[in-house]
Amino acid sequence: MSHPAETPADGPTTSEGRRVLLAAPRGYCAGVDRAVVAVEKALELHGSPVYVRKEIVHNKHVVRTLAARGAVFVDETDEVPEGATVVFSAHGVSPAVHAAAAERSLKTIDATCPLVTKVHREAVRFAKDDYDILLVGHEGHEEVEGTAGEAPEHVQLVDGPESVDAVTVRDPEKVVWLSQTTLSVDETMQTVERLKERFPTLQDPPSDDICYATQNRQVAVKKIAPQSDLVVVVGSANSSNSVRLVEVALQHGAKASYRVDHKDELDEAWLEGVRTVGVTSGASVPEILVTDVLAWLAERGFGDVEEVRTASEDLLFSLPRELRADLKAASAAAAAKAAQH
Ligand code: SF4
Repeated sequence: MSHPAETPADGPTTSEGRRVLLAAPRGYCAGVDRAVVAVEKALELHGSPVYVRKEIVHNKHVVRTLAARGAVFVDETDEVPEGATVVFSAHGVSPAVHAAAAERSLKTIDATCPLVTKVHREAVRFAKDDYDILLVGHEGHEEVEGTAGEAPEHVQLVDGPESVDAVTVRDPEKVVWLSQTTLSVDETMQTVERLKERFPTLQDPPSDDICYATQNRQVAVKKIAPQSDLVVVVGSANSSNSVRLVEVALQHGAKASYRVDHKDELDEAWLEGVRTVGVTSGASVPEILVTDVLAWLAERGFGDVEEVRTASEDLLFSLPRELRADLKAASAAAAAKAAQH
């Protein structure tokens, strides 16, 4: 999935002493890529409108671009006309949402990231074995709502180390923790340590719930942060993994760090006295937005860009099953039509 590939980040500065350290990996992950392509393919296949429940991924630019192509973003399935096509976002949905869609005879395309689905399955499995499930995650985040909705009577949300004292369980010997996929690795470990002080036999998830993309982007920003006077994180405010990157940069030595949706949110004042700017982006951010930020920095004397890579990623997910079936049927129909002529 990822291979360590260390690149030294502490080379000399340019003659002007200004440089950019560009973190890699950054930007799109496999789950985001799959979800965005799913909406694009659904539009090609079914035409506009294709309804999408919630933001397909947490990025304003992506949502605006898909909306311009005919995607209609709604909050709930009851806003979708009966029988229409609706795509579920990469963050996942609870069984109640699937049931509501079925009741309205909606045609659904489930673009939930397979790594989120994995956590759903863990929740179902531990609930079946009657565990209390402590779900470490952020209150109100769509992914957490979807995962908790798999077993609402077994799941308790733990939103950071300060929430640990309020946790109550039925049997301290039968407790497991799971987590949202896009958390800070370090803060999650602090939360888990505190949980283990209270429940020493607390079980760990069968495998890491914080996904490879979140972890890799945090490792890369940790590498550039100690040498950066400023770290710019490209990502939207509701993107959990992007917001975490700002926190991680500050915790690992960046003198300042700001999140911007796009280059127009950059502020000249941030560059005062700055020699090294770190740049990275969240897992839902198209590279064009990073390219724009680099161009803005280059215009201000930060044209020397060194990429600092801490891992390589080559993971790809196949498109949602329903969509693959539709694409196959469409190409078979096209072939049959061509054969008639
Ligand atoms: S950030 Fe991780 S869990 Fe979320 S879509 Fe990307 S790969 Fe999937």
